Amino acid sequence: MTIATKPISVTEYELGKLAERFESRGIEELLEWAVDRFAPRLVMTSNFGAEGVVLIDHLARVAPQTPIVYLSTGFQFAETDELKERLQARYNLNIIQAEAELTVEEQNRIHGERLYQTNSDLCCQMRKVEPLQQALSGYGAWIAALRRDQSPTRANIKTIEWNARNNLVKIHPLAAWTRATVWNYILKHNLPYNRLYNEGYSSIGCQPCTRRVSAGAHERSGRWDGSRKMECGIHL
Ligand code: SF4
Repeated sequence: MTIATKPISVTEYELGKLAERFESRGIEELLEWAVDRFAPRLVMTSNFGAEGVVLIDHLARVAPQTPIVYLSTGFQFAETDELKERLQARYNLNIIQAEAELTVEEQNRIHGERLYQTNSDLCCQMRKVEPLQQALSGYGAWIAALRRDQSPTRANIKTIEWNARNNLVKIHPLAAWTRATVWNYILKHNLPYNRLYNEGYSSIGCQPCTRRVSAGAHERSGRWDGSRKMECGIHL
């Protein structure tokens, strides 16, 4: 798809006002505004976690052909790919798969096996951050399914803000949602979700860097367990 690359014209002041305005509005109202303002230069990213499923359910009613970038790292769970197929079939989504320049085999050869253990930042940089930056290039606005209460690194996200790294507007329709409201929505509307949630996982990333968590543990504590890393870098 060819995307126009003219810079988005928006000021910090305007974004601040918009963030205030949409803080207490519904998701669909925010998505309708985003489509009106930015489409066809509007994109969503998702690895089809619980929040992503909720957002896709809304986006499918507003603008179902909005591109959804999925980072296929080569280390994702088979269950995640299987959910991707189920969502694709249910909503007829426009999913774009973004991949690293190096295959897993090439990465192993050049950087050694288990780079995710020896240098997880480099692994995330090559398999997530760089492919995403490339995939977002040319878009004017990016929708992501983050919640403020997911982690301290996300505590200050706004519903609409400037993302300097990718030079676009970033939109967080679920910023004020909680884990409970996400799951209430999924169950109430009988939405498909990653079956790993039923097997003790509370946040699902790449298979080598994701662990089951015990009851009561913080929901992202199973990611990069044993290290201080809390984010792969794409949302920093
Ligand atoms: S989450 Fe783990 S396996 Fe996935 S890209 Fe990052 S370090 Fe590599």
